[in-house]
Amino acid sequence: MRVVIVGGGLMGAATAFFLARRGIGVTLIERDRVGQAATNASFGNIRRQGRHLPQLPLAHRSRALWGETLALLDEDVEFRATGHVRFAFDEGAVADMEAFARDAAPLGLTLEILGRNELRARFPWAGPGAIAASFSPEDGSANPRLIAPAFARAAARLGAEIAEDCPVTAIESSGNGLRVETARGTFPADAVLNAAGAWGARLAERLGEPVPIEAYGPQMGVTEPLPHRILPVVGIWSRVKAEGVYFRQVERGNIVFGGGKREPVALDPGHAKVDPANTLAQLPQLARLCPAIARVQVIRTWSGCEGYTGDMLPVMGPSRTAPGVFHAFGFCGHGFQLGPGVGDVMAELIATGETPTPIAPYCIARFAAA
Ligand SMILES: Cc1cc2nc3c(=O)[nH]c(=O)nc-3n(C[C@H](O)[C@H](O)[C@H](O)COP(=O)(O)OP(=O)(O)OC[C@H]3O[C@@H](n4cnc5c(N)ncnc54)[C@H](O)[C@@H]3O)c2cc1C
Repeated sequence: MRVVIVGGGLMGAATAFFLARRGIGVTLIERDRVGQAATNASFGNIRRQGRHLPQLPLAHRSRALWGETLALLDEDVEFRATGHVRFAFDEGAVADMEAFARDAAPLGLTLEILGRNELRARFPWAGPGAIAASFSPEDGSANPRLIAPAFARAAARLGAEIAEDCPVTAIESSGNGLRVETARGTFPADAVLNAAGAWGARLAERLGEPVPIEAYGPQMGVTEPLPHRILPVVGIWSRVKAEGVYFRQVERGNIVFGGGKREPVALDPGHAKVDPANTLAQLPQLARLCPAIARVQVIRTWSGCEGYTGDMLPVMGPSRTAPGVFHAFGFCGHGFQLGPGVGDVMAELIATGETPTPIAPYCIARFAAA
């Protein structure tokens, strides 16, 4: 069996690795450089709390794999299970937090709920307005710049072919299989995975299965380095979008942050930008979570092009129209945590035709029905 993967982001690179580990011949085709698109821009949050509940089995599978990345990839991708805390500042947010904790527990995610005094004792840097918090001890973060190249290198060591600077122009059926047309020639395949991120809907449309997708750039920034004091990833429970900021302090001391308004991105050329007004709107919200941030210099901002579907769920599974083609794209700003799990699931699905991890809610057929 020969599998061709279109798109060398986290989803494509992880799938290449897990296919190669199964002994399957695989070519990973990236039009630019592996990992340079949404994956590289990511905040790096490995967060399960607040996630769409039916996605938890996939998120758990992925979280287990994050814990094995050093052994699997033979590289430190800076995965750290520092825990993930979310503060609540009003009663509505507390109600949402408690409801999520109650519903997530039977699905295998146990959150520690902390009252005002407890959260302040545990996180003395927290803003004075925080009245409660939920803590997910096994979650954390990893370095977004390292993960996709690490998966691709590990796949290559297992025999995968990595083709960079190689835009795919078409996926077509040939007599007894498929062929992937690129700017650098034709690649024959028995199966093809469309892992082209925000651009994945273009390939799907050419196969006769359009997916309404919009590209946006989450707004990110990083501060000057400070002494390392804050261990967990920090976020908020809030019904107000503008309040929805998050941050983490990396081991080198800088505070990486994001959240709030996203900016639309034109898929051609797909360069996402930060509007400085969004950064200025983020800063008071960050200071609400941790007042000390108000006195810190921002040294850089960036964004990345991510695909968002109408229901905020990704597209995963087999094509409806093209036998042998599979999709894994449109991860709506929450694909970093899922990445290793998506790679493992897609490799399993392509190799065996099935997976025990529920992915039916992400089938491409839901758009045809709409
Ligand atoms: C700024 C930002 C912050 C984020 N923060 C988080 C977070 O903290 N936690 C979280 O869980 N998720 C986060 N996400 C989401 C997460 O990063 C993405 O969901 C995930 O990285 C998507 O991976 P991907 O492989 O699908 O896409 P990408 O990384 O975009 O990879 C797709 C690749 O396909 C290639 N490609 C496209 N068309 C073609 C073609 N025709 N031929 C060949 N190659 C092609 C592209 O060049 C690209 O490299 C964030 C996203 C952004 C943008």
